[in-house]
Amino acid sequence: MERQMAEKSFSAFQMAQTQFDQIADRLNLDAATKELLRWPLREYQFMIPVRMDDGGFRVFRGFRVQHNDARGPSKGGIRFHPQETIDTVRALAMWMTWKCAVVDIPLGGAKGGVICDPHNLSPREQEGICRGWIRQIAKNIGPVADVPAPDVMTNAQHMLWMLDEFEVITGGKYPGLITGKPVGMGGSLGRTEATGYGVVYHMREALKALKLQVEKTRVSVQGFGNVAFYAIDLYTRMGGKVVCVSSWDQNDQASYAFRKPQGINLEELQRITDRFGGIDKGKASEIGYEVLPGHAWLEQDVDILIPAALENQITGQTVLKIHPNVKLVVEGANGPTTPEADAVLKERGVFVVPDFLANAGGVTCSYFEQVQSNMNFYWEKEEVLRRVDEKMTSAFHSVHELAKKNKLYMRDAAYVIAINRVAQACKDRGWV
Ligand code: NAD
Repeated sequence: MERQMAEKSFSAFQMAQTQFDQIADRLNLDAATKELLRWPLREYQFMIPVRMDDGGFRVFRGFRVQHNDARGPSKGGIRFHPQETIDTVRALAMWMTWKCAVVDIPLGGAKGGVICDPHNLSPREQEGICRGWIRQIAKNIGPVADVPAPDVMTNAQHMLWMLDEFEVITGGKYPGLITGKPVGMGGSLGRTEATGYGVVYHMREALKALKLQVEKTRVSVQGFGNVAFYAIDLYTRMGGKVVCVSSWDQNDQASYAFRKPQGINLEELQRITDRFGGIDKGKASEIGYEVLPGHAWLEQDVDILIPAALENQITGQTVLKIHPNVKLVVEGANGPTTPEADAVLKERGVFVVPDFLANAGGVTCSYFEQVQSNMNFYWEKEEVLRRVDEKMTSAFHSVHELAKKNKLYMRDAAYVIAINRVAQACKDRGWV
């Protein structure tokens, strides 16, 4: 059985800082800039009391971390997770800064979270958490300061409750406060697809660089949520074959991999998947999928791996189980690969499209949502996705060009571009 959470010793923030330190040294950043960028500018931790359906109260812990806003208002999702920690939120906030910078959108980085498990909360209780989160942080966020969005286990409904609470408090209409809103209520068409499609836009460009044809490739995916689903959707329409996906089983508290060597069928799997992206293993077996232990997703004989579930999945140990035929890893999830595992992938010559580049389609579309909300004028879906594709493609090539020119690993090249841009913005503003 697979444990969902990372080993206790794993610290996502330490990993984010390690990645930053390595590049900061390479760039010879001065001590003050380094100190400024390796920590969040601001962080908020607060309690959220909520009246539960049984009439009693429960108190939840909430977070918002603003890592850096030198390039524009900070931006980042809010995660609802039972094992959420300030450490993870800090790491994700820092990655948001680099993500916005590497795709060159005028935003900084932030992240938020609440320690809770929506599996065990009614919609009314979840609404209480959303409104409580906003009441605690309304003064410190806003359309021109810090713009939240959905992330793991939060969705458009949560965003709308949050926006509504903010508008009740402030007495105005501020659709640009938050992104990932429902379409028709300030949301952007294409947001649901943007992250997964963005992963595939990067994959398409990487395959060209590797001189591989999409139709001849096979993929294994970790996760079957929003990112994984739309990545699989576009990739299979482009002619590729997904032979394995995996998901978390809430009843068993374990993950499982679902294999079909002739290629999975997205629609049939979707019909047996719950709203959290958990595939029903009994039904999957009935319709001809092999049900394997969760870790099997990365042991498959495929060309491409897409981790699209959680951080800390390709580790010093698990990396050794990756099949020698794997040529490309496109990181849909944030922080799926530890620095230890990264060293092994680098050594083996695996082409890695790093998380903050690969999954930046989401924040790019969120940025377009902000722009549309602030104009109160909404674009067609094709226009949104075309613009996301353009941004992803051009960011991919900037990073790849630098990687080729300076013989850098893709992750390092992406970091060099992102950190340089943010350091320059801090300098230009006279901060350091
Ligand atoms: P989601 O909640 O929709 O789906 C998560 C999926 O992962 C589910 O299918 C779940 O069953 C599965 N999962 C959880 N634990 C697992 C495990 N141990 N093994 C296998 N599967 C497991 O989340 P999402 O929005 O698809 O996000 C996935 C990842 O992508 C996260 O790291 C998130 O931070 C990142 N991300 C998401 C977006 C976005 O726009 N949704 C943008 C950028 C990055």
